[in-house]
Amino acid sequence: MTAISTKDLERPERVLVIVAHPDDAEFQAGATLAKWSRLGSEVHHLVLTDGSKGTWDPEADPEELIESRKAEQRAAALALGATGEVHFLGLVDGELTGSRSEIALVAEVIRRVRPNAVLGHDPWRRYRLHPDHRRAGELCIEGIVAARDPMFFREQLVDGLEPHRPSALLLFEADVANHAEEVSEVDLQQRIAALEAFQSQLETTHFYGLDPEEKVAQFRSQQRDRLTSAGATLGVPMAELFHLITDQL
Ligand SMILES: [Zn+2]
Repeated sequence: MTAISTKDLERPERVLVIVAHPDDAEFQAGATLAKWSRLGSEVHHLVLTDGSKGTWDPEADPEELIESRKAEQRAAALALGATGEVHFLGLVDGELTGSRSEIALVAEVIRRVRPNAVLGHDPWRRYRLHPDHRRAGELCIEGIVAARDPMFFREQLVDGLEPHRPSALLLFEADVANHAEEVSEVDLQQRIAALEAFQSQLETTHFYGLDPEEKVAQFRSQQRDRLTSAGATLGVPMAELFHLITDQL
């Protein structure tokens, strides 16, 4: 559902994108992150899980998969032009619980990075099956609330951290999108380059069974279609859509 009422935030100085798995940030907001990086924003990633279930191969070694997905995520951030850090919490893939200790970990990263804009999964998206995406969205929101209020996780403040309040929250894969970031051909190309850094995922989760060249061509045209159809909702060539929240932060 889309009823876009705002377009293009003023460029945020620091950005934190909070995701369940390696590659979620790039799939949902890669072009926007590339655009802001090019304009000078400092883009940081926080990846909550270790990605250890991201394969269809039951013989895969989970430890090797974790390491390769971390390396891929770092390469993807570079492909976006992100100059911030890539933080990994290393929680078990598929098993996010939304516990107090997980919220504390997210709040701590928010208090360290001090982002002006935070991006995360929309926890209210209907009919979503993957539990990590819903819980990662909840953790993002609860982490923001905890990070800004001094009575939450006070032990973090003893170490010199201070409460922090971002000014914008952008939820991606939004149940009801209300905001668009217009993006360009360059941003699309960086989004594709970043996604293609996730080689372990291209092999197993995209266009299974096609020959490699066909796979790449289909993948690239699918990415272009996603951005052009989002752009069509507001009459621009390409965009990524979000639910923007600014008034409760
Ligand atoms: Zn995911």
